Amino acid sequence: MIRIAEVFHSVQGEGFLAGTPSIFVRTSGCNLRCWYCDTRYASWEPEGELQSVDSVLQAVQRWPTHHVVVTGGEPMIFDELALLCQGIRDLGRHITIETAGTVDRDVPCDLWSISPKLSNSTPVGYTSDTWIEQHEQRRKQPAIVESLMQRGEYQLKFVVGSILDAEEVLEYLKELHGWSRDRVLMMPRGITSQELQLQTSWLTQWCRDHDLRLCDRLHIHWFGNRRGT
Ligand code: SF4
Repeated sequence: MIRIAEVFHSVQGEGFLAGTPSIFVRTSGCNLRCWYCDTRYASWEPEGELQSVDSVLQAVQRWPTHHVVVTGGEPMIFDELALLCQGIRDLGRHITIETAGTVDRDVPCDLWSISPKLSNSTPVGYTSDTWIEQHEQRRKQPAIVESLMQRGEYQLKFVVGSILDAEEVLEYLKELHGWSRDRVLMMPRGITSQELQLQTSWLTQWCRDHDLRLCDRLHIHWFGNRRGT
């Protein structure tokens, strides 16, 4: 059984497949507690029922759309994720898995979309000391990120809200082995168009100067920060 917050049909707003019509399967529950999380109903306060793999696959088949994005929360915490993704693959669909890269599993996947969490994610002042400690212990797992990268196509998405964050990405990349520059995406932090534009105003030049790709969060511009989009 897998806890599911929602299954919906929308358009991918981030990364290599931005603009692609996609079905989103959002699992509910996360092993991290990023303070800026914009899907708290699938992490801090997980909603949704436990569902069988068959029931989720039936929901996916409501649409003929080729691309399926398995996201969260953190989908990789579920033992049955491999079964679910094998089922999606058997339907002939393309699978993207959105993960923070803290759990390794052998799961059928066509695009690993890995978003390692920086120190800017730590929820100091937002939750208990226990959760802050667990978040810090879990969030940075370069060996797991490397393992996922070796499992197939991947993109590395870093959420940044300041130049200090962007410099931390450079430090992170020094520790990480086997990454390719054209697969690193620098993403502004924000849940409104205004916030994203503010961040993008400095990040664009920073990306040019450091030869890394800028990645906007287009769904925020298109739909706002709304559930089911
Ligand atoms: S890893 Fe993702 S889903 Fe989990 S708390 Fe952080 S931003 Fe939210």
